[in-house]
Amino acid sequence: MAKNMKRRGNTKGTKGTKTTSSKGARKFVYFFGNGKADGNRSMKDTLGGKGAGLAEMTNAGLPVPPGFTISTDACNIYYANNSKLPANIETEMVAALRKLEKSAGAQLGSNAKPLLVSVRSGAKFSMPGMMDTILNLGLNDDTVEGLKAWTGNGRFAFDSYRRFIQMFGSVVLEIAKSAFEHEFETIKRGRNAKLDTDLDEAALREVVAAYKRLVKSQTKQDFPQDPMEQLRGARNAVFRSWNNARAQEYRRIYDIPDSIGTAVNVQMMVFGNTGDRSGTGVGFTRNPATGAKEFFGEFLINAQGEDVVAGIRTPQPIVQLERVMPKAYKQLRDITTRLERNYKDIQDFEFTIQDEKLYMLQTRSGKRTGYAAVVIATDLVKEKLVTPKEAILLVDPEALSQLLAPGFDPKEWKQHDVVTRGLPASPGAACGKAVFSSETAVEWSNRGEPVILVRRETVPDDIHGMWVSQGVLTATGGMTSHAAVVGRQMGKPSIVGAGELQINEHGKSFTVKGKTVKEGDFVAFDGLTGEVKIAKVSSQPSEILQVVAGKMKPSASPIYQRFNTLLEWTDKFRRLGVRANADQPDQAELAYAFGARGIGLCRTEHMFFGEGRIPIVQRMILADNEKDRREALNQLLPMQRDDFYGVFKGMHGTPVTIRTIDPPLHEFLPKREDLMVEIAVMEVKGQKGKELEAKKKLLARVEQLHEFNPMLGHRGVRLGITYPEITEMQTRAIMEAACQLNKEGLKVIPEIMIPLVGDVRELRDQKVIVERVAADVMEEQGIKIKYLVGTMIEVPRGAIMADEVAREAQFFSFGTNDLTQMTFGFSRDDAGKFLRVYQDRKILEKDPFASFDVPGTGQLVDMAVKRGRATRPDLKLGICGEHGGDPASIHFFDKVGLDYVSCSPYRVPVARLAAAQAALSVKVGD
Ligand code: ADP
Ligand code: MG
Ligand code: MG
Repeated sequence: MAKNMKRRGNTKGTKGTKTTSSKGARKFVYFFGNGKADGNRSMKDTLGGKGAGLAEMTNAGLPVPPGFTISTDACNIYYANNSKLPANIETEMVAALRKLEKSAGAQLGSNAKPLLVSVRSGAKFSMPGMMDTILNLGLNDDTVEGLKAWTGNGRFAFDSYRRFIQMFGSVVLEIAKSAFEHEFETIKRGRNAKLDTDLDEAALREVVAAYKRLVKSQTKQDFPQDPMEQLRGARNAVFRSWNNARAQEYRRIYDIPDSIGTAVNVQMMVFGNTGDRSGTGVGFTRNPATGAKEFFGEFLINAQGEDVVAGIRTPQPIVQLERVMPKAYKQLRDITTRLERNYKDIQDFEFTIQDEKLYMLQTRSGKRTGYAAVVIATDLVKEKLVTPKEAILLVDPEALSQLLAPGFDPKEWKQHDVVTRGLPASPGAACGKAVFSSETAVEWSNRGEPVILVRRETVPDDIHGMWVSQGVLTATGGMTSHAAVVGRQMGKPSIVGAGELQINEHGKSFTVKGKTVKEGDFVAFDGLTGEVKIAKVSSQPSEILQVVAGKMKPSASPIYQRFNTLLEWTDKFRRLGVRANADQPDQAELAYAFGARGIGLCRTEHMFFGEGRIPIVQRMILADNEKDRREALNQLLPMQRDDFYGVFKGMHGTPVTIRTIDPPLHEFLPKREDLMVEIAVMEVKGQKGKELEAKKKLLARVEQLHEFNPMLGHRGVRLGITYPEITEMQTRAIMEAACQLNKEGLKVIPEIMIPLVGDVRELRDQKVIVERVAADVMEEQGIKIKYLVGTMIEVPRGAIMADEVAREAQFFSFGTNDLTQMTFGFSRDDAGKFLRVYQDRKILEKDPFASFDVPGTGQLVDMAVKRGRATRPDLKLGICGEHGGDPASIHFFDKVGLDYVSCSPYRVPVARLAAAQAALSVKVGD
């Protein structure tokens, strides 16, 4: 296997890969077979993940059935070209098919030796079950008899034909799967057959006849008999499946661009359904739920394709293959171990055994839970398979936030009986109201109810319902069923194959051990142990959080130790500093324990909402003269000083940026409508006197402060300019706390930040006040300390004028929430109404408030960085908007040259990892 190749998807046109044909024309079809492939693992962009894996395995000499891959470019051309492929690509495909026929020693459509192929989709990023695969293509009324004669196995030939008609019928001809299933079940019942494998050739011939009648009645045409027509139809259906509803939904959730398209793999069939010496299976080189180093997977004897994951028959654990077919088992273990070493990551593989001969059909990096991701990354380093630097790249930053999710309160959990157990497919504590359809799950969760999605089995259409649920519980399926795979990837607690559940999806209930659970009843389960209870159980913080909060010793928590080790590695590689947004001492402590070294944003107004403070704040606002206002501020001063003291202390002397008051003042007053109602009620009741007068006065002030556009109104630096005494009080509180701590021996360097500056003169105005008060305080305290004055860059004009602003500012902190809002002209509070439509219509790919708008708003950041540094080379630069904890955004902030990102305390681990990955230049999601 090619060593030293980059693990993650390279971009197009990677050196050394062939993307043109020998004549120099662009190449669209890539052959693999006979130990040699046109492509390799680095070509995921062109070949898709599956195609790149098949090529790589072929080159490594592994037993892979030959075939060819039609590139993702062809898919995009298909769409651009009115759902047709141009002649040159058709010609290339036919040439590849001829080569395949030679290699296989069989011909498509031949009666003597019919070649059968699978047509498989495969995009750059795997999308389990999102697109469709067609097996046994090439069969028709004649070739099926040819296959029977060639193999001497009529049962097998007709089993393959009925599968093909069903798959082609549903995927290409768009006939409902259930219509086929209905025919199949009728014949099974008529023959008293329990399992599919109980049907003999005669019965399968009947199934085929019934299927053909169904096709005829639904499409008014006979089932297509021409194999070339079948092949083109299947290929185009794979291209079309790229845009089916569930594939689109999947891409939306996982942030996969719509534009990359899917490849199509056409591959010689090998057969797991020829009898008891054949079978098919899927597996992982490690446990994808817990990360444990154990061979993991399932297989079925005498089966084909998706039978294992479809939950029709219950598959056997893969280790039992050793007993049934020891030689094939040993070979499978050897090959998959090699694959893991080569790819340096847990592999998820698919295989088929035909008459005891093993074939590999797929390999890829296995999807895993956040928990498993951390375990595997640290294990691989211990096993010397990867370096810490490589290990960092194996963990999706979001995995770390999964590890911080709560578990059950053990005492409460113990009080309830286990009603049943299922397979622990994805760890985590889940509790919610039982619902039996994805639609209900979405509806109920939209109104804020926690739900558990209970299904016999999930299908790819359930993806949205799974996404909004607390957890997913199914009655059938194994550890590699759809619910299990998708649940793990989402980090959604999941239990599958809880076979004792008698689910009545229509009646919206299930029974287990004589107990009935109806829609809306509470269910709780533990995805790590597989235990299910009928109860409402409250949860408690994750183990890691308990260690971080000092409630548990690090030595008592192996997962914490791994988590911490991984994060320590990230610190060696990242360039960006990571700070937290925090305004309470305990938040600061937590952030520090998670590795934040500094606070990027301390919002002082949050402190105004603290206990007993609102009346004083209101008095300050209601004051109609400076004297009264100062009096109220004087009362607030010691409180703010204590707040700052605590926050500084919680950050152990690392820098703390404190922002002066930002929101419009009316936010501290009661709502206008509420006051009006209260006054009206008092008047109706005939109440008079001081209380009524006070309310009226308050209302008058509220009306005076009322703004039509508060977000663009009297807030930020504008407040400080009109009420300088507020800035004075806050500066005094900050400096007194800092001086105090410096005297106590903790060197703190406050960074005083003025918000919403669009012109240097605004900043200048406030800086004069800050410097005057700071000098006074230091003189009073008899100590000199270092402090900085800077500004937020969040008004577009501030970014444009950054060279001037930097004359007064010692640091910039990008307030990307406001900056996004004002650059787009979208109100943060109201944009929800239309942003979803924007995303559905592809006007915007992502919500710019969640993932930073690099192409647009990013230019303002870039400009401000350059202009600011031109004026002041040592200007400190950071970002404190919500984007500071978003991996994709962090990548940009690293590239644009900021010094640090700041995010909520719980996102700090995610930011540390994302910052390291950014420094190592790995695109997120790649
Ligand atoms: P998915 O992307 O949903 O995993 P695949 O293209 O991998 O779909 O196909 C699903 C299954 O179909 C495979 O796991 C394998 O069991 C079966 N299959 C695909 N191609 C072949 C083939 N050439 N021979 C035998 N089985 C195949
Ligand atoms: Mg598929
Ligand atoms: Mg597959």
